[in-house]
Amino acid sequence: MISLRNVSRYYKAGERSVHALEDVSLAIAPHEFVAVVGPSGCGKSTLMHLIAGLDRPTAGEIVVDGLSLTTADDAALTNFRRRQLGLVFQFFNLLPTMNALENVSLPLLLQGIAPEEAAARAGELLRLVGLTNRASHFVHQLSGGEQQRTAIARALVHHPSLLIADEPTGNLDTASAERVIALLEQIAREQLTTLILVTHSAEVAAAAARQIELRDGRIINDRLLAVA
Ligand code: ADP
Repeated sequence: MISLRNVSRYYKAGERSVHALEDVSLAIAPHEFVAVVGPSGCGKSTLMHLIAGLDRPTAGEIVVDGLSLTTADDAALTNFRRRQLGLVFQFFNLLPTMNALENVSLPLLLQGIAPEEAAARAGELLRLVGLTNRASHFVHQLSGGEQQRTAIARALVHHPSLLIADEPTGNLDTASAERVIALLEQIAREQLTTLILVTHSAEVAAAAARQIELRDGRIINDRLLAVA
């Protein structure tokens, strides 16, 4: 369960204060699939960073699964991100010197999991995203869609209860984008993961069950969509 109450985030830009988010309140229930939409600069990334515990609000309260992200100390936030959160970005952020399997294994190795166990788990996740036959390919040998599916597999290594995808299709052609969105939707449904998808594409947002629209840092629309 995610709850934001009267959340604002202001940035100082010289003398000026930029109101990136202004008095945002919302609740997202477990297992919801929500698209956050709106034009560039409306506050989508700011909102995601706050929900991911990567940033703190100027005012208001954010609670995720009982943890107040507003008051939690840095160690608690790190722990929250590691245990509960999977992040997917527009630019995949894979390491080019590693193959797909190694990229997915890396977070597990960093956590001290034995290499064989990490590789086995990474292999399972690559199977889940349909990339078993690409496991030993390096990043430059993968298409954009395959790179994003590898990044999704990596985001799942800690069995997150919350998956946040920030413009995950921003760098993909239409066919790859559709496949990535279908995959995210399938994962969320099968693994009972809450999915928050940030996008400026109306087509991509239409896959979600609920759409939250931001404009100038405020929610101007929050509605349930008919299931396709
Ligand atoms: P979106 O993701 O919808 O494009 P952002 O959340 O990135 O929007 O930005 C919202 C507003 O806050 C914009 O006006 C942006 O310029 C401003 N902003 C974002 N990050 C910073 C920052 N670190 N410092 C100053 N202004 C920022």
